[in-house]
Amino acid sequence: MKVVVDMDVCKDHGQCVFSAPEVFQINENGRLVYVAESDESLRDAVEEAADVCPLQAITIED
Ligand code: SF4
Repeated sequence: MKVVVDMDVCKDHGQCVFSAPEVFQINENGRLVYVAESDESLRDAVEEAADVCPLQAITIED
């Protein structure tokens, strides 16, 4: 599964981190980092993260 976050849109508030902490983290600089090639088993969690993202910055490309 390929995860893409539009970092021009993301405001790093981290709602996605609560939904899928295996994929999304906030680094020591307060910026979102994420695993672009995530395991298929995490799809439901990433879909939930995409739903809760207030800026709709998360997409799943395959
Ligand atoms: S929920 Fe959306 S805007 Fe917030 S950190 Fe995650 S991707 Fe960025």
